[in-house]
Amino acid sequence: MKFTVIAETNEDLLHPTVYQLIGAISKIGAETTVICPNGKGSSEASKIKGVEKVISVNGDCFHLFDGSAWSTAINSVCEGTIVISASPNGREIGAMIAAKRDIPIIQDVTAISAGIEVTRPIYSGKATETLLINGDSVITLRPNAFENAELGNEAPISIVDQTSDLKISIIEAIGKASERLDVTEAEIIISGGRGMGSIDNFSHLESMADTLGAAVGASRAVVDEWGMPHRMQVGQTGKTVSPSLYIAVGISGAIQHLAGMRSSKYILAINKDPDAPIFTVADYGIVASWEDALPILKSELMKL
Ligand SMILES: Cc1cc2nc3c(=O)[nH]c(=O)nc-3n(C[C@H](O)[C@H](O)[C@H](O)COP(=O)(O)OP(=O)(O)OC[C@H]3O[C@@H](n4cnc5c(N)ncnc54)[C@H](O)[C@@H]3O)c2cc1C
Repeated sequence: MKFTVIAETNEDLLHPTVYQLIGAISKIGAETTVICPNGKGSSEASKIKGVEKVISVNGDCFHLFDGSAWSTAINSVCEGTIVISASPNGREIGAMIAAKRDIPIIQDVTAISAGIEVTRPIYSGKATETLLINGDSVITLRPNAFENAELGNEAPISIVDQTSDLKISIIEAIGKASERLDVTEAEIIISGGRGMGSIDNFSHLESMADTLGAAVGASRAVVDEWGMPHRMQVGQTGKTVSPSLYIAVGISGAIQHLAGMRSSKYILAINKDPDAPIFTVADYGIVASWEDALPILKSELMKL
């Protein structure tokens, strides 16, 4: 079975999730072609074990992100089963390529095994389903759900030039709406809910995040009622995250919130209600008000 990974980049470097996509494919004993839009990250990709070849697709459309133009240019060089990150851009390009090829798309996969079988959460994470794939498809993989591939390769790089019939010209794109780490990219996230009492109290979470090098997230209650930016919202209608450590502060753990964070490696919950549902998924729980717990936790972390 042939695999094609579509690489995303952070500035000019490969996005860390690309190592995870290739790692997932290597684990089932397969090799992959990696497509690097506008050549970004191509020499890095060629050094990753499990990469058979790298195709640098160059074209004027790659100046700024436009899913329609990018998927048209990339689709022309894709082969076999196409694998891309379940990031917002990845989901968009993946869906468009699947539609162009008239093949299925399986979004937000968290496990893959030879055969090939893929597993993903459904019904807001209440259940998981495993699908057997017969034939080509597009698969988007959840960031941080897979181990990184190793380095130690010298795969050949070829260059394909694409001229596209641009229907939309993007004049300006703002790279980041905030200087803070994005919740989908962070190894550690500290999220606050309605239990924080007010938006001003998020400064306590921000200071904790600075200590830990973490991103700050929020429940939907806080986004809807206190006007927190939606990019911070974790959950079914927000971002899906899989950090190494997720700290939930004053968050009850409604099913829609759990849908976005239950695949975190470790979960620490701080809540004054011992019966809060967040404790059913937490690896560590502190039954206390955040006002009491956070200062102690922070001072202990500072010692580390
Ligand atoms: C279609 C749909 C989609 C949704 N999508 C999302 C989503 O993407 N993300 C999301 O988060 N929600 C989502 N929701 C909303 C969800 O159902 C909950 O309403 C929401 O998650 C509750 O947010 P919360 O836990 O912050 O608030 P609450 O449920 O009010 O919980 C506050 C918690 O804080 C605790 N607390 C209070 N004071 C303190 C204190 N001083 N110290 C410590 N703990 C304290 C309380 O014991 C309580 O457990 C969705 C709902 C629907 C219907």
